Amino acid sequence: MVSPSTSSATSSTARAEWTHARRIVVKIGSALLTDSANGQLKTTWLNSLMDDVAELKAAGKEIVIVSSGAVALGRHTLKLPKGPLELEQSQAAAAVGQIALAHAYQEMAQTRGLTAAQILLTLGDTEQRRRYLNARTTIDVLLALKAIPVVNENDTVATTEIRYGDNDRLSARVASMVSADCLVLLSDIDGLYTAPPNDDPNAQHIPLVTDITPEIEAMAGDAGTELSKGGMKTKVEAGKIALGAGTNMVITTGKILNPLRAITNGGKVTWFIAKSDPTTAKKRWLSGQLVPAGQIFVDAGAEKALMSGKSLLPAGVIRIDGTFDRGDAVIIRAADGRELGRGLIAYATADARRIMGKRSGDISEILGYEGRDTLIHRDDMALTGGANRT
Ligand code: GLU
Repeated sequence: MVSPSTSSATSSTARAEWTHARRIVVKIGSALLTDSANGQLKTTWLNSLMDDVAELKAAGKEIVIVSSGAVALGRHTLKLPKGPLELEQSQAAAAVGQIALAHAYQEMAQTRGLTAAQILLTLGDTEQRRRYLNARTTIDVLLALKAIPVVNENDTVATTEIRYGDNDRLSARVASMVSADCLVLLSDIDGLYTAPPNDDPNAQHIPLVTDITPEIEAMAGDAGTELSKGGMKTKVEAGKIALGAGTNMVITTGKILNPLRAITNGGKVTWFIAKSDPTTAKKRWLSGQLVPAGQIFVDAGAEKALMSGKSLLPAGVIRIDGTFDRGDAVIIRAADGRELGRGLIAYATADARRIMGKRSGDISEILGYEGRDTLIHRDDMALTGGANRT
């Protein structure tokens, strides 16, 4: 399903989870991107990866890249010593390396008629709902505009207490945030083995994981090299985040050219298959795990609109109870008090009260800023009884 030349010959060998994936997050580690001997970017390899990305884009897929490499590139330019760096040194190195990294992606995207967009995240951007909504909207808009978001941790400001620390975990958070269908972790090995294959000649490759059991976790061990923060352990941790969000994950080798094409061609990988899809997982999260901070009562017209899969507009709101911030969870109720669903609200209490009952077109005049048209977007809503569709 990639390009005509590869699809006819190979699509039968790729898993349906790959050929049907519409939104794919690809994580690239420092060890694949940079040459540890001279600290240079491996441009031949990155060009081959960007060829794959261009093919997938041409096949209608949305691609988000999570790329490491900032520290590895910058430490060389700054001539920092080999071995572990102090936090401040890593931050300085990232400041230098991130420009080079972004430049490389920009140039390589451009030569393929594509647009790269840089997104630097800190932990709070995926952990705090308000900032999560912001980051997600930006990535969604970029994808709708056919750009390729290139994400990294904002290493220059992230300190030990507030960092993801490794891009395996960051990529899983991003995949979950954007409800990706598939997360690809490009590694220095072609998947998960029962034991480290370099140490144990009897190590068996595991092609499929459907449950991350303690046995699977034990197989992951520790590992990790000087350049890459993650080993198999952080990849399995990433798997837990991804599968919990309904995102399938694949670990495969990035030590070959065109590593994504290799997945299409049925290359050797380990698949982690989620039990539900991202939409179902998100609805479960929305309806179950969040403590609602307020209640929004809607009129009959809005109730009908919600039931037909629409977002909640301010115009249909007749009463607001509670105190909440933007991004908080609220309960949506019919005029007679019946619970209709739950969702993440796009405005804090005071602003929500000011625009309730008003037309979306009047929001900017009432509030003095350009806010969202919807009070609760349908993607951020789970209707009671699972009646809604997004
Ligand atoms: N964010 C780091 C960098 O760009 C990489 C972290 C990791 O290797 O997982 O250098």
